Amino acid sequence: MQIKKGIPVSPGVAISRAVVIDAENLPVPRRTVAAAGVKREHERLDEAVSRSCADVDRLAEQATAKLGTDLAKIFGFHLAMLRDEKLIGQIKQYILAEYVTAEYAVYIVMRRIARMFLQQDNRYFRERVSDIWDLERRVLGHLIGHTRAGLSHLKHEAVVIAHDLTPSQTAALDTTKVKGLVTDAGGSTSHTAILAHALGIPAIVGLEGLSAQVETGETVIVDGNKGVVIIDPDAERLMQYRQQVRWMAEFETRLEQVRHLPAQTKDGTEIKILGNIEFPSEIPGAIQKGASGIGLYRTEFLFLSAASEPSEEQQYEAYVEALQALEGRPLTIRTLDLGADKIGNAVDTGEQTDRNPFLGCRSIRLCLQNLPLFKTQLRAILRASTQGPVRVMFPLISNIMELRQAKMILNDVMEDLEEEGIAYSDDIPVGIMVEVPSAALQAKTFAREVDFFSIGTNDLVQYTVAVDRGNERIASLYSASHPAVIQLVRDVVRAGKREGIDVGLCGEMAGQPEYVMLLIGLGLHSLSITPPAIPEVKKVIRSVSLDQCKRVAKKVAGFDSDREVTNYLKDELYKIVPDAIDGRIIEY
Ligand code: PEP
Ligand code: MG
Repeated sequence: MQIKKGIPVSPGVAISRAVVIDAENLPVPRRTVAAAGVKREHERLDEAVSRSCADVDRLAEQATAKLGTDLAKIFGFHLAMLRDEKLIGQIKQYILAEYVTAEYAVYIVMRRIARMFLQQDNRYFRERVSDIWDLERRVLGHLIGHTRAGLSHLKHEAVVIAHDLTPSQTAALDTTKVKGLVTDAGGSTSHTAILAHALGIPAIVGLEGLSAQVETGETVIVDGNKGVVIIDPDAERLMQYRQQVRWMAEFETRLEQVRHLPAQTKDGTEIKILGNIEFPSEIPGAIQKGASGIGLYRTEFLFLSAASEPSEEQQYEAYVEALQALEGRPLTIRTLDLGADKIGNAVDTGEQTDRNPFLGCRSIRLCLQNLPLFKTQLRAILRASTQGPVRVMFPLISNIMELRQAKMILNDVMEDLEEEGIAYSDDIPVGIMVEVPSAALQAKTFAREVDFFSIGTNDLVQYTVAVDRGNERIASLYSASHPAVIQLVRDVVRAGKREGIDVGLCGEMAGQPEYVMLLIGLGLHSLSITPPAIPEVKKVIRSVSLDQCKRVAKKVAGFDSDREVTNYLKDELYKIVPDAIDGRIIEY
């Protein structure tokens, strides 16, 4: 048995046989042609490229039907490359210069481009290498009639293990057969990760060299909750996980009963439960899980899945789509939080020039340095605000001047709209993510200038304890239970309440059942969480009283270490909802 840890990008547990995909090594022999044959090779290339375009068009159509237009935009990059005259020109030039077959020229030129992408500092470009392999495979398929292992006709259930899955391989997955996904390469912003999550397949990326260590047919366990892959598990581990899968299914069924009951403590205190989403297409699912609105719409994903910057109209349409899906429920639109780990090719985030991207020109900083980009988004949000209850939220505010500047720009955009006679809601609530310690410490000042706070603990933890949230090697130091983090959350809630503004929390901890009592006890009555976690959180809320929660918060204030806090919270949760702990027995 081998246990490997990677970056979890889609939750859930899968136990199945492995299918290992060798995505890169399809050698194409060098075959030469006579000078008179060059024209024929050029024609073969043109034909293969035009057939590949037709394939991608078809795939984009299928993906639109299956996943919605946002995710299908990923194929825009493929089409743009296939239609790039410079690229096709390079391949033709290689055929002409070397007198080689079209397939050999495609093989060489695409490999050069892939190498170029791999050498980029910009992580986004490095992650696009999978798209290059995908295109190469497709064009070669039309030229020489065979492709690498396909995933659309698996004969049995499997966990797919690959060096790197291409986006179209991922989108084409037969979800009835593919139970889990593991890749050597990739990061949390790779298209494969985005798609796996949208498809609901447990997935882990960044497991360097794993595909070389597993053989097709071996049993593997993919624990997408913890980011752990177990190869050839022993009988005991297998039994534990089988138990966990069974337990999760049963628990899910029991949770069905609470989904649409009010999120109320035993003494009748109402807790607002909202959903976190990346795409409007997730809204019906969030409502179905029991969300009463959306507390965090991560609009940057509209940009991350597009080949070019979405226009005002495209953004407006996405926001209106979200509001229509919500049917009058509230929507908090967070302005672009691009940069650091969230980079795409739609906007140049200048990541390669930042030595420390998480401390660099990301998020609101990037927007304030790119006013046309920022204003376009604000126009789209304001125009959409006539269609339903919208709140606008600025991320990563660290300084009061940033907030004032952002609000001034919002006002400018309102004035522009007024001059143009375009309708918008002029009493749109404006709030901030409190996710930088400086903003948390100055919460009193900020509270006087905004309508609401949403505490973003994902970032607040990393900035408070100086631990990169994406770095596997120091992951054990990243903990929302750190007493310093809890202290900051407590202070922010108090400051917000004193000024009479709405305070919520939208970091991942809000969806982790062990934190629910603590957060309510700290005074948080609005939690925005990842939709799959909603029923379980509701179950906890309905099983406790406000006094119990306050006692938990008071006790936690006396602990010195995150370990004490975590152990205590788990014990307390076990007393109240043993089900929420019982199935998660496997620790690493
Ligand atoms: C956060 O930082 O807590 C948050 C909710 O936002 P994101 O995870 O998008 O940074
Ligand atoms: Mg954040």
